Amino acid sequence: PEPERIAKVMARAGVASRRDSEAIILEGRVSVNGRVIDSPALDIGPDDVVLIDGEPLPARERTRMWLYHKPRGLVTTNHDPEGRPTVFDALPEDLPRVLSVGRLDINTEGLLLLTNDGGLARMLELPETGWLRRYRVRAFGSVTQDRLDTLRDGVTIDGVSYGPVVARFERQQGSNTWLTVDLREGKNREVKTVLEHLGLDVNRLIRVSFGPFQLADLPEGEVDEIRSRVLKDQL
Ligand code: URA
Repeated sequence: PEPERIAKVMARAGVASRRDSEAIILEGRVSVNGRVIDSPALDIGPDDVVLIDGEPLPARERTRMWLYHKPRGLVTTNHDPEGRPTVFDALPEDLPRVLSVGRLDINTEGLLLLTNDGGLARMLELPETGWLRRYRVRAFGSVTQDRLDTLRDGVTIDGVSYGPVVARFERQQGSNTWLTVDLREGKNREVKTVLEHLGLDVNRLIRVSFGPFQLADLPEGEVDEIRSRVLKDQL
């Protein structure tokens, strides 16, 4: 493997985030090949011996994955420049360091997958992986099934092309319409954008499944680890 920034290697080993790993280096707690380093501006390779507080880097953990019922009002990022509460602040204390598979918007709720394996997270985010994402949607306005069916062949909006979206009318509730929406690529704000294109204003967006995994009755704010045998069968 190519040499990499030491903080990146520490983060991947699960020591701390990349930013926190840099802080640990600046505290003089890290040595490389027997010498304490005082700057994170260092690339290391597989043959370099890194000790933190005199201990070797932890061995790579086995891949684990969790379902998480994301509540509304949390941003899916490690560090929000606007200081809003994040998913990672809200997770149960006893969870190891995890990454999310993709993101849900601040006001989107429902199923978010979490994993300790950065490579797996990136792979599952790729459009080529193409796992089905299913949403229950409440939108202000009304629409016919025929109009919804125009989304099936994909649509280009403001120069961005969206792949096939299968939207089903479920029921009218006052001025709102409930829909089920299936898509596979998961572009930024995809559900809101394609429905807005049909004159619908999304005011509730709940992801109920991602690939083979279902939100089911997992309570809001809680996580549920996917058993490793199930995980192996699905990946
Ligand atoms: N589509 C959206 O518009 N928002 C999400 O959070 C997910 C899908």
